[in-house]
Amino acid sequence: MEKINDIKIKTALEVLNSHDDSKLISHLNSCVHCGLCAKTCLYYLTIGDERFIPARKVELVSSIYRRYFTVMGKVLPALVSARKLDDKMIEEMVDLLYGGCVMCGRCVRHCSIGVDIEYVVRKGREMLAKMGYVPESLQSTVKAALETGNNMGISYEDFVDTIEWMEEELQEECNDPEARIPLNEPGKNVLYTLNPREPKFFPLSISAMAKVFYLAKESWTLSTNMYDVTNYAYFSSHPGEAKAIAQRMYDEMQNMKSGRLVLAECGHGVRSNRWEAPNYIEKGFFFEALTSVELIAEYIRKGRIRPDRERMKDAVTLHDPCNLARGSGIVEEQRYILKNCVSNFVEMTPHGTDNFCCGGGGGQLAMSEYNDRRLKIAELKVRQIRKTGAAIVVTPCHNCIDQLTQINVTYNLNIQIKTLAEIVADSLPVLKE
Ligand code: SF4
Ligand code: SF4
Repeated sequence: MEKINDIKIKTALEVLNSHDDSKLISHLNSCVHCGLCAKTCLYYLTIGDERFIPARKVELVSSIYRRYFTVMGKVLPALVSARKLDDKMIEEMVDLLYGGCVMCGRCVRHCSIGVDIEYVVRKGREMLAKMGYVPESLQSTVKAALETGNNMGISYEDFVDTIEWMEEELQEECNDPEARIPLNEPGKNVLYTLNPREPKFFPLSISAMAKVFYLAKESWTLSTNMYDVTNYAYFSSHPGEAKAIAQRMYDEMQNMKSGRLVLAECGHGVRSNRWEAPNYIEKGFFFEALTSVELIAEYIRKGRIRPDRERMKDAVTLHDPCNLARGSGIVEEQRYILKNCVSNFVEMTPHGTDNFCCGGGGGQLAMSEYNDRRLKIAELKVRQIRKTGAAIVVTPCHNCIDQLTQINVTYNLNIQIKTLAEIVADSLPVLKE
């Protein structure tokens, strides 16, 4: 790790010195050390090390604030536990703020006085990002998105090949040679996005959503120029890089002249594109941004698609992605959909806005340095899934799909894992001639 120097320190302290961010300063100064947050965090609950208590992560950042921005911290730092930003501190911050937090926000919900711990972690990450201390694996994911337009560096040719292949699957499934996956067609009602994991590893989730669009008779398109719903700079917390990625989606909405940006099944993709993007790019949207979850629920409510819940009799449970449920308030729509598409839906405990992260949030899936820790903190999710007795776990997030797929093998869960679009597509009969 490159040594810290005065220029780096000055850059990092600008994050804490912002006069525009009174929220940060009040959250840095509010913790009353009640300890209630400890038992809400999957890291502390599974690893048991006190370093992982949420308040300790806040303390890392607030101790720097006291050291450089308060009189007592400057004069008598030991007395107010004020700490210098030095190499040892950087090491601790990287380990705990990047490698020891999934930014799930569960602790915030349980904090006795509402300290926004997740926000403080993000600002701590921003300090590290500005100094160039983002873990290399996470930074390379951001770099791929900046350089190629998608975080997996998928080439134009490979993407188009996959879409054409999925279009053939769709035509066969729908028994209609005219069924299409439209590419680069401006003026359509919907510009649909994808998590690049779909064309790379799970292309059938693309044809599943295409089947939903086909049966709903939607006017839609994908764009080869910008289809990536993710924004990993939200996790690295580099504001300039997050802005560049968000701006590209905004520009593509202008190019494609669509009225609705439909965000694919990706928790942080929803949070970053729908809620954070207007802040990153410093302007409001001229279009509607909504999730595919909300859109599918709308289709069912309006009778545009008619699922048959009797087609799926196995017990099905739902994993709520943190950034969709807690972070974006989308809780009822996925339940409405599942209750219409399967006959035996079982809830996990806890669920909804109190659900536990699967362990893959906060960019953990991109940070191979912390793989062992990521699989360890999944123990809570494993217990939750086992208790439901479900054969199928549905989750509207490709990052969660990836983590659940890995823990399925590691912990011998013996379950099937599906996106929401896949379970909906399975429930939709197509009349074959
Ligand atoms: S945001 Fe989640 S992972 Fe991070 S400290 Fe809070 S509970 Fe723990
Ligand atoms: S619950 Fe809130 S106030 Fe209590 S220790 Fe945790 S962060 Fe501090």
